[in-house]
Amino acid sequence: MAKKPRVTPMMQQYNEIKAQYPDALLFYRLGDFYELFNEDAILGAKLLELTLTQRNKNSAQPVPMAGVPHHAAQSYIDILVDKGYKVAVVEQMEDPAQAEGMVKREVIQLVTPGTRMKTSADAAKENNYMVALSQLPTGQFGLAYADLSTGELEATTVATTGNVMNELSRLETKEIVTDVTLPDDLMATLTNLGILVSYQSEGLADHQLDYLVQDLAQPAQKHSADLLLAYLMATQKRSLDHLQVAKGYDIAQYLELDRHSRANLELTSNIRTQQRSGTLLWLLDLTKTAMGGRLLKQWIEQPLLDRTALEGRYDIVGGLLDDYFGRAALQEALQGVYDLERLAGRVAFGSANGRDLLQLSHSLEQVPAIMLTLQAMDQHIFGTPLADLDPVSDIQELISQAITDDPPVSVKEGGLIKDGYNAKLDEYRYTMQHGKQWLADLEASEREATGIHSLKIGYNKVFGYYIEVTKANIDRLDPDRYTRKQTLVNAERFITPELKEHEQLILEAQAQSSELEYDLFTQLRDTIKMNITRLQKLGANLARLDVLQSLATVAEQFNFVRPQLTDETEIEIKDGRHPVVEKVLGHQAFVANDVVMPVDETIMLITGPNMSGKSTYMRQLALTVVMAQIGSFVPATSAKLPIFDHIFTRIGAADDLISGNSTFMVEMAEANTALQEASPHSLILFDELGRGTATYDGMALAQAIIEYVHDHTQAKTLFSTHYHELTSLDTTLPHLKNVHVGATEEDGKLIFSHKVLPGPADQSYGINVAKLAGLPEQLIKRASEILQDLEASDQKESQLLPSQAEKNSTNSSLAEPMVAYPSSVTPDNLAVETHQSTSDSEQPSQL
Ligand code: ADP
Repeated sequence: MAKKPRVTPMMQQYNEIKAQYPDALLFYRLGDFYELFNEDAILGAKLLELTLTQRNKNSAQPVPMAGVPHHAAQSYIDILVDKGYKVAVVEQMEDPAQAEGMVKREVIQLVTPGTRMKTSADAAKENNYMVALSQLPTGQFGLAYADLSTGELEATTVATTGNVMNELSRLETKEIVTDVTLPDDLMATLTNLGILVSYQSEGLADHQLDYLVQDLAQPAQKHSADLLLAYLMATQKRSLDHLQVAKGYDIAQYLELDRHSRANLELTSNIRTQQRSGTLLWLLDLTKTAMGGRLLKQWIEQPLLDRTALEGRYDIVGGLLDDYFGRAALQEALQGVYDLERLAGRVAFGSANGRDLLQLSHSLEQVPAIMLTLQAMDQHIFGTPLADLDPVSDIQELISQAITDDPPVSVKEGGLIKDGYNAKLDEYRYTMQHGKQWLADLEASEREATGIHSLKIGYNKVFGYYIEVTKANIDRLDPDRYTRKQTLVNAERFITPELKEHEQLILEAQAQSSELEYDLFTQLRDTIKMNITRLQKLGANLARLDVLQSLATVAEQFNFVRPQLTDETEIEIKDGRHPVVEKVLGHQAFVANDVVMPVDETIMLITGPNMSGKSTYMRQLALTVVMAQIGSFVPATSAKLPIFDHIFTRIGAADDLISGNSTFMVEMAEANTALQEASPHSLILFDELGRGTATYDGMALAQAIIEYVHDHTQAKTLFSTHYHELTSLDTTLPHLKNVHVGATEEDGKLIFSHKVLPGPADQSYGINVAKLAGLPEQLIKRASEILQDLEASDQKESQLLPSQAEKNSTNSSLAEPMVAYPSSVTPDNLAVETHQSTSDSEQPSQL
């Protein structure tokens, strides 16, 4: 057996701590540095671009090492956590100068992707959720989540891994903690999405936090919330007093959207840039506060099904919309409100400084004006709790009495507390001021006595107060009275007994005053801490008000209308617009379109050339639905809408690159989810479904899917296609309607009207679009020739098919053979049917 190499006591301590945190990088405090060792050092050096060195270089077992200066540690930790790693911060728990033997060290915090608190300004309108997932023997999942910076805590129970994934995507989860072995398919998806999975074997042992989960009735919810709290305690190792009592919720209360639909509809994240720009959130966000910004995002990610709640929101949006001056007053007041939720969090953690308290006070100062404005506005629109705000003015008064107008960042060096707040502090300050005056007097009298005009009194940390005299003047001093303390290049520094005596007084007063200020400050902070719940409640109310004023302002800017919710499955939107495209293009340039689907119409089959506006039309409906179901007004001149329970989409080319599935596979999987889960109250958007495979394959599947939706699912479905053959389905499917997006050809150029018209499109214009895209002239010409040839040969074969007239008279439908694919129907004769059957399609019919 090989002899075990001798390990230094420090490395022994390191190894012991590392063994407790095997899945984290250890930032081990060593003097002014945090050091990484062994495999952490190798990984850290690579990720952080640090120099990799060695400790105990000359020993038999040198240790790889890399370090960062302690004052810059936060930014390095942020980089690692952003990349999905955990960092354990190991601090020196005693002064190395006074320690006997090894300096005691402990992990003071475990920073993880789900528990980190970003302080940057661009993170102000973002939540960061840590999610806990547990599973009951029944297979049900308990899911709990918290934002450590705001104290939000919620829990739910869901049935399937699909539900779990939808919630995780809504929460933009970066990390989950679990106490079970998760199902393989779920694990695979989590890994693909880069979601870190942490394990925590035990739930909550600290019964002091029991009250946080007291309202959770379901065992699965409670269990997951316990697990979450245990993980938060284990990683934070500090006060969690700002965590709010957990709220249980049921996903069935909300409009369900899966991960792909959220992404495809660009609700909060632009699919190309991953930024806000170009999203629904970007359009609707005119919030004035960070809290409002976060809440709006939550609303968009969790649209409601509750009609009463929605009507309540419409009422307020309408009230605010009509009262321009009231709204302006609210906006101005909200502008002065800082992030109460996160300030409350910092108070709880004990990390709030003087500036934070001042921000809190300034925020609270705005509340009376807000209340006055609300009272002056239409009373019954707001009702409680908005008109009934608790202004928390007692805390505001306390802070404004105590904290100076320009407090320093540090809370330990004085300058925080106002004169007149505390008699003892005033006394210390008096002594200090007198001491300083005495020093100034001393300087003057010493100059006079010695005749040295350059003599001055100074202070440094090592020697305290001193009298400084240039070397040229040294001779003039009485050596008995002056004791030399320090020699500089050009000067000498001295002390005298009386200077020493006063120094003592001044420094003592200074130290005592700083200490007292710190005490007073922490007392104040503790008082605020006891009122955190009130502050959080106020914050939530102001956030809600902010979101509603934002919705009202956007509605005014873009001429949105209040939707009319119906209990029937009937859609009737007049002059609907895609609000984001409209904002980008400008109101004039956007062509408004109606969306009319009576109760008995379930499928709208949309044809038209590429680039004509099919997918814009479909997205516009989905966004209108989402807007209506968060309480927003909608982009139309009038809109009657049912409340949808679920939106399914298969839109655009944004494919699931991460999971490594082929486009077609993803397409079919999404179609399957929609077909299985949609109810007659759902909305399905299928954009060019089936194009990912060979033409006939795709067309056959598309038709079969349409028929299935028509006969079984019965969800309101918009289906765009370039298979013109499918348009004849309206003869067999009574609940299907054809529409097309208009385009005309002029001098070989395609002119898009972007107008949605009744009936099917007559041709596909693919070559015109290619020309539009700038493909070489020669190539376009060749393609036209090929097309002509193909059409000519079609004509010949089409003799075999029944004529249009025959079909009409015998009512023999082409749709039937398409389903069964009898051998007599060839790909080519299917194509012929398109041209024939759609030649008269421009005639208007009831849309
Ligand atoms: P398709 O799905 O038919 O290929 P898109 O919906 O992607 O077409 O629309 C193509 C482009 O046409 C869009 O990027 C948009 O700029 C423009 N467009 C679409 N609909 C409209 C409209 N109603 N009014 C004005 N421009 C539109």
